[in-house]
Amino acid sequence: MQQLTRQFIDNRWVESAGQRRLPVTDPYRQETIAEVTAGDPTDVDAAVAAARGALPAWQALDGRRRGAFLQAFADALVARRDALMRLSARNNGKALAEAGIDLDDAIACYRYYAGQAAELELRQGRIVEHGLDGIRAQTYEDPIGVVGLITPWNFPLVTSAWKIAPALAAGCTIVFKPSEVTPLPEQALAEIAEAVGLPDGVLNLVHGDGEGIGAPLTTHPGVDKFSFTGSNAVGEMVMRAAAEGVRNVSLELGGKSPILVLDDAEVEQAADWVMAGIYFNSGQICSATSRLIVHDALAESLYAALGKRIDAIRLGDPLADDTDMGPMSSARQREAVECYLAMAREEGLVAVRDGRHRQLPERGEFVAPTLYRDVPVESRLWQEEIFGPVLCGRSVASDEEAVELANASPFGLAATVVAGDVERARQVGLRLRAGTIWVNSEQLVMPEASWGGFGISGIGRELGPWGLAEYLQVKHLIGPEGGTHA
Ligand code: NAD
Repeated sequence: MQQLTRQFIDNRWVESAGQRRLPVTDPYRQETIAEVTAGDPTDVDAAVAAARGALPAWQALDGRRRGAFLQAFADALVARRDALMRLSARNNGKALAEAGIDLDDAIACYRYYAGQAAELELRQGRIVEHGLDGIRAQTYEDPIGVVGLITPWNFPLVTSAWKIAPALAAGCTIVFKPSEVTPLPEQALAEIAEAVGLPDGVLNLVHGDGEGIGAPLTTHPGVDKFSFTGSNAVGEMVMRAAAEGVRNVSLELGGKSPILVLDDAEVEQAADWVMAGIYFNSGQICSATSRLIVHDALAESLYAALGKRIDAIRLGDPLADDTDMGPMSSARQREAVECYLAMAREEGLVAVRDGRHRQLPERGEFVAPTLYRDVPVESRLWQEEIFGPVLCGRSVASDEEAVELANASPFGLAATVVAGDVERARQVGLRLRAGTIWVNSEQLVMPEASWGGFGISGIGRELGPWGLAEYLQVKHLIGPEGGTHA
């Protein structure tokens, strides 16, 4: 059994000072496949010191050279693609095809920020247009410094790519804490840093849980910025810790995103998009469109179409080609989702599919895909992020009502609008309070665009130029004309 007891600090594998060990499981086979250290504050001290030491040289390196490292990262992921897909499927429980999508997303992200690093170099010292005679004003963008990156378990290689790639492109040095639930695929990133010859201390990876590494990292005064993806409860803790010393913070938190099906939608097509929005990755998606808002006129036919599709989902071994949906990523997550299903029974919710009709695989942390209709807005199932394959529906009489209901949530990560007339869908989409709005589409994500939430879904944006800006601080140089234009 693999022992992940060593931290990757200053380009060396160093035994963690932490004595606690946590099991790393395969949620389908329900076996412990590795053990990971819970970490220790002294690991954090060493990692932060290494990142601090590496900062001046990394920041001074030409952006095009930093970009070349990012291309090498992407190439290394391509070379390991199959192995990492299998590792993700085992550690995470996600179906193999879904693990492939994650890999492709991560690879595209490293490549995109390789280009951004080069562009950043070219725009240093940009002349600002203004109305003052004889004055030269220029802007430079400096890296924020040492950054602490903390990620969850649902899309390990993706959430880490969205942080590591722009941080390196910007010239920041990194202390990265992956989720203790899925350390196996993330471990590969340290191996890749070593293999591509990233300078010592630029990327440090410290395994551990919230107590061993997370909290000590966020309270460490040597870190200039935190970028956190995870739950709202922990996100608030990170932000509180960052207040000490006025450190910068970006947060990618939870969601309770709506999918609106308007009355001119084509029902079979709408059903496909509804399915993809909630049952992908067993519903463990921050942008899961878990609130279905359907026009009265289509409700019956849409629920019927969804019921058929739910019955056709093949649950099974994530490593098998004929599996559509794997187990939940951990026993803990299965139990958390089952609490909501028990609540649904207590509340007497009307189920289109309540999961009890189907045989679950003999082993594995499975929750059957579930759909409730006419869910009261007061229900906790309608209001809270469940992070599982549980869809709640309500029908409405107008677009107006649909928009109002969609926006009646403190979250605002994403939304989908489905209509027959794509322009009508766009216009409704523009009225929604969310960071990403898919219009007649599945949940397309691309590194060139933005990702992030309105409201309590987060602060800041990942991906695109905005994702790079999160790791930069602008410097304005102004004074009389003269000298050389550097
Ligand atoms: P979590 O908040 O429990 O853990 C996230 C990370 O924080 C883990 O690495 C964990 O070890 C660490 N952590 C725990 N306690 C900490 C502390 N006190 N200080 C610092 N770090 C600490 O979340 P999770 O269960 O791993 O992930 C699920 C959540 O993530 C969901 O709410 C989901 O919506 C959210 N998520 C959001 C996005 C997004 O882009 N908005 C993407 C993926 C997941």
